[in-house]
Formats: sequence, structure tokens, C-alpha cells
Amino acid sequence: MSKTQQSVCLGLILSCLLFACASTTEQGAVGVDRRQMLLVPNEQIIRASLAGYDQTKREASDKGVLDKNPDQVRRVQEILRRLIPPTTIFRSEAKDWPWEAHVISSPELNAYCMPGGKIIFYSGIIEKLALTDDEIAAIMGHEIAHALREHGRERMSEELIKQIGLQLLVETGTMDAKYMSAANLVTTLSVTLRHGRRQESEADEIGLELAARAGYNPRGAVSLWKKMGQASGGSGMPEFLSTHPASDRRSAELEELLPKVMPFYKGQPRN
Ligand SMILES: [Zn+2]
Repeated sequence: MSKTQQSVCLGLILSCLLFACASTTEQGAVGVDRRQMLLVPNEQIIRASLAGYDQTKREASDKGVLDKNPDQVRRVQEILRRLIPPTTIFRSEAKDWPWEAHVISSPELNAYCMPGGKIIFYSGIIEKLALTDDEIAAIMGHEIAHALREHGRERMSEELIKQIGLQLLVETGTMDAKYMSAANLVTTLSVTLRHGRRQESEADEIGLELAARAGYNPRGAVSLWKKMGQASGGSGMPEFLSTHPASDRRSAELEELLPKVMPFYKGQPRN
């Protein structure tokens, strides 16, 4: 890489860092306020997400495992229906997202919300953890929060900057190429994982407020993570827990947040 190319590259990174930093969401009552680096275009991610969701549904349908239990599907879709209006507290345009939720019959303890609001629950997590509606709302609120905050896009952007940055250190002779993989590992461990935990806290906080405002008892999040903790004690790590470590600290942090969101739950009409 020539000196000119190097300075162009550095200039590009700096301008990205200066101009691409913004928060994807409003703070809400829980007060999530962190500027994010978002370099990868959102349209590309949404397009890939929609295609991926269609493919997942098609494959599940071909295997005869899509939406097999009408009661489960009704529960999950009703909970989504009630969670959509409060998303506007964090992103006003989210009410117009193409929200959708389906249940795949599979023993996996997993659930997710793809960018743009496409949700999958596996029957395993509902049945094995005997989830209440409040607990389903806690999981769904948490996963929706990841989508509202565009956490996936943020991590992709960070990975891009990391790769460009490390390559630049090698090209400029600042770092020997043989150290690149070690440097990669250290960066991943120190930046990405720490960031992962911060994203998890944000999703917990926003998810709690969404559930409360939708009329679900936010205490469901606390009991959910206790059940998760018990499930992880058995053999084999559930899929959901490989990205969402259940810990006593997590339950304690959720407990601490309850006073902030309880008024929204208590203000809801009972039905
Ligand atoms: Zn999460």
C-alpha cells in the first residue's frame, strides 16, 4: 500500500468514525443512550434478513415443522401484537416494520428477532422451560430490542473497522504480519466480547420496558433468567445461552431495573 493509499484509507476510517456515530434509538424510561458506529448499509442487512427469514420458513414448512401447534402460534403472535406499539417509544418508524412471528417445532431452546422485525420461536424453549406469557414477552422484548438497536449491524461494522485497522498496521510496517492472528484474537476478546455484554444489557433494559408497556409483568424477565440458569446446569449448553449467558448478575441487574418500569405495567388495563 502506497503512502497515498494509506492516508486515503486512514481518512476514510476517521470520517466514518466521525460521521457514522449515532444512536439508533431514543432513550426510553430505562435511559439507553450510547452512540453507535454503523458503517454497513442498513438496506443490505434488511434485504439479507428478509431473504433469510423466508428461507427459514420455507425449509421448516417443507419439513412439516412450521406453526404446527395453533395454541403456541396464537400465544406468540398475540404477544408480538401487544409489543409492537411500545416500540415507537424507542423508534417512531418501528410500528411500520413488517413484523412477523412464527413457531418452529424443534427441541432447541432458542428464539430470535431478525433485523426488520422477523421473529422465530422454537417450541423447545416454550415447552421445556414451561414459559408463561410474561416470560415469552421478556424473551421477545429482549430480541426485539437487539433489532431496534441494530446490534447486528453494529457488530458487522466493528468487524470491518477491525480488519481494516489491523491490515493497515501490517501494511505500514507497524506490526509484523505473523502477529496478525494473535492481535485479531486479542481485539476480539477485548472489544467484541465486552461490547457483546453491553449490547446484552441494552437489550435487557429496552426489552423490560417494552414488556411492561405492553402489559406483561416485567418480573417475567427475572424468573426467565432463573429458569435459563437451571437449564444451563444440565448437559449441553442450550443454543440461546451460548449468546446469552445466564448469570446471577444478570438477574440482579434486572431486579434493580424493575422500579423504573413497574409503573408502566401497573398503568395497563387488566384483561
Ligand atoms: Zn441478547
